[in-house]
Amino acid sequence: MKKVFIFLGPPGSGKGTQTSRLADKLSIPHIDTGALLRKNIQDETELGIVAKGFIDKGQLVPLYVVSNVIKERLLKDDCAQGYILDGFPRSVEQAEALKDIMDEIGTFDLKEDTMAIYFDIDNEELIHRLVNRRSCPKCGTIYNLISNPPKIMDYCDICDTKLTLRKDDNEETARARFVTYENETAPLYEYFKQLGILKEIKADKPIIEIWEELKAIIFDE
Ligand code: AMP
Repeated sequence: MKKVFIFLGPPGSGKGTQTSRLADKLSIPHIDTGALLRKNIQDETELGIVAKGFIDKGQLVPLYVVSNVIKERLLKDDCAQGYILDGFPRSVEQAEALKDIMDEIGTFDLKEDTMAIYFDIDNEELIHRLVNRRSCPKCGTIYNLISNPPKIMDYCDICDTKLTLRKDDNEETARARFVTYENETAPLYEYFKQLGILKEIKADKPIIEIWEELKAIIFDE
């Protein structure tokens, strides 16, 4: 079985939900780049200060910022058995940076040890999903007020913390994020296909069905 997984797909396609499940099942870390960047912003690190302006506009933060954040994370001991990347790479330039980082660390190889999983979903559905998305600031559980609401409105089922709407899940920034996705991230589909490591999932289905398909793809390999 592969050791490194890259989840690829437009914002709101359900990658985060499935990645968390897979991380629990395989006992390897789920590395959510957006969350790492938001943590840097919250902690007011130098990288966080640079990242903030780009995130607020729905644009990609510069390569050196995201590469530094990812490299630092991949060097941690818990990545030694494998890891799941969610939100990185997000451009061909970043995929090449990832290859260099993996070669430098030396534990896994992009072509040999990695599976990229593309979440295929119709764009119309997505803005609607994003503006209804809520997440728990404490434990990270993700809800959707329409399709996957918490038991008590606005409070996390797991830890009872008040749920929040991400600042960039407003309609204007969400639209900008789609433009960024089409221009920068969509070309990665061909890149990974050429490399022979791409798998696809139809992501306009209930969470449980996507999960079953994902497991079949990963464990039947
Ligand atoms: P996400 O939580 O994955 O939707 O990411 C939120 C925002 O963080 C994006 O709209 C970007 O501004 C920034 N971001 C996340 N991952 C990356 C990345 N790999 N490269 C550049 N910017 C990123």
